[in-house]
Amino acid sequence: MVYFVGAGPGDTELITLKGVKLLKEADTVIYAGSLINHELLHYCREGARLIDSAHLSMEEIIDICKETEPGITVRLQTGDTALYSAISEQTALLDKENISYETVPGVSSFLAAAAALDIEYTLPGKSQSLIISRIEGRTPVPEREDIRVLASHGSSMVLFLSAGHTREVRDRLIEGGYSEDTPACIVYHASWPDEKVIHCRVGSLHSSAKENGITKTALLLIGDFLEGEGDKSLLYDASFTTGYRQGSVKRETVACCAFTDRGYELGNSLYPGACSRISRRDNGISLDEWTREHFYEAGALVFIGAVQIAVRAIAPYIQTKITDPAVVVIDESGQYVIPILSGHVGGGGRLALELEERLKDLGYNASSVITTASDNRQLFAADSWAASMGMKILNPEDIVRLQSDILKGKEIRVGSDFELTFPSGKTEIICERGYAKGQDMQVRVTGSGDRDGLIVIPRAATLGIGLKRGTSCRQIREAFEAFINENGIYSYAINSIASIDIKKDEEGLIEFAGELGLKIEFYSAGELDALSGDFTDSDFVRKVTGTGNVCERAALMSVIRHAGDQDADTDGHDESAGGRIICRKYARDGVTLALAIPQKL
Ligand code: SAH
Repeated sequence: MVYFVGAGPGDTELITLKGVKLLKEADTVIYAGSLINHELLHYCREGARLIDSAHLSMEEIIDICKETEPGITVRLQTGDTALYSAISEQTALLDKENISYETVPGVSSFLAAAAALDIEYTLPGKSQSLIISRIEGRTPVPEREDIRVLASHGSSMVLFLSAGHTREVRDRLIEGGYSEDTPACIVYHASWPDEKVIHCRVGSLHSSAKENGITKTALLLIGDFLEGEGDKSLLYDASFTTGYRQGSVKRETVACCAFTDRGYELGNSLYPGACSRISRRDNGISLDEWTREHFYEAGALVFIGAVQIAVRAIAPYIQTKITDPAVVVIDESGQYVIPILSGHVGGGGRLALELEERLKDLGYNASSVITTASDNRQLFAADSWAASMGMKILNPEDIVRLQSDILKGKEIRVGSDFELTFPSGKTEIICERGYAKGQDMQVRVTGSGDRDGLIVIPRAATLGIGLKRGTSCRQIREAFEAFINENGIYSYAINSIASIDIKKDEEGLIEFAGELGLKIEFYSAGELDALSGDFTDSDFVRKVTGTGNVCERAALMSVIRHAGDQDADTDGHDESAGGRIICRKYARDGVTLALAIPQKL
């Protein structure tokens, strides 16, 4: 008789009573030497054969089981037998030999990892699902389960057997839709005496694994559940299901395909060399394959052909109006341009209007078919407006309620400390200023009085950084995390970093900016010192750098410069355009940080 026994994650007390009993009775124990805690073998009786399976083939393992018959063989597997244990290959061979077997479950390592963190994967309000997967190794992973595809759910995720491929994992998670600052955690040897827990972000998964020398026997945990309860997690990336699609679709992110030869010609004149011809024949790419490949990655899909075919193609992939790409259908004659998905936040409506113009330029008699009521009645569409301004809506589930107020002709109120501009239209918009501290980075759009409305975060703040020579990326990251937690800052709101030019080649700073995906602007001491205002200046800083304060001055300088750029593009020069510091100098471990926002968006 063979018993497949889950040995648990490592701790010798995390094996079941049944497992221990079998180890005590076993005549032969075959264990995976590199994964199993050898202390477990102390449960075995004297004289039992203990065999490390590391150098054995599957057939040799079965031969040992055969030799042991009618005695007891325990095949000791790490964690639980139900995950990545190759148990089915073994049972198939035992069946052939007519050797009977039984399975005894164990505590899987992903459960021990959660216990090490004292967290639950199914945290209400964050995620109610856990995806367990791995990156492909010698064992392939089906294409539909590629990390990019799974990442699009934005649920809690645990990756086994992937600690040696963190660079690839990071890239795919981001491509799939997790933002770089989604919380992540590497748990090495969960429940062993040398257990290691490394908190990081999706963007820093690879550098964190590298810094800590982790290549195996570790799990990668990804998702908002790692942030715990409360508002704190909002600080990072509140509406993170998949990547937030911006309101204006960039041309290079449009994927186009045509169902007919005539449509293919049209597609190629709109997107030269980049239109795919869908074909039913065996050798061509199928519509389903094409849609699956592009739906989660492209900013917009343009189908040329019948709208019915397009609807069927996208149906299986549609998720939410915040995360789905814009989808536009053009008939093969170029007469109608019809946005059918994500018209507002995804930018489908705007893309349709653009395509109409381009087709007209190409000599087609095109018109767009717009069916969204707010657009046709020239009413305000809050989601469209937010997306076109590059803002993030924190509570997209409330869009429909707000829009229905607007369609009923109600006035809306916009509360914000920013100066805002709105498209002209028939909705009455009342602007209210003077928000409390902590809310000064938000814009609130409210319909019926008693509700909170939409909370929208503009991406316009600059993070000013000062640092001692040689400060590491990690020190800056830790200071930054403490800074944003303490001040209630949404990291999404930050769109650039600013510092003083003598820090231009600080490697830690450059790496940190890279992790956040932000550009850094450097200003000279002279420029920073010429800035007038109320700063937390210090004589010491002035002696070292030539200006009284780096982080506050650099942050403010940057937002003022950008406000100036904007005005130059529009109405010449506006003296009042400027900005203000909303978080003053914060110092930690050789790093100083401050945050400034512009007056106007
Ligand atoms: N059946 C096992 C998984 C075996 S695959 C289970 O249920 O846990 C081996 C992989 O499991 C390793 O590459 C690692 O990703 C993970 N793993 C196993 N034990 C672990 C532990 N104690 N801590 C962290 N990861 C572990």
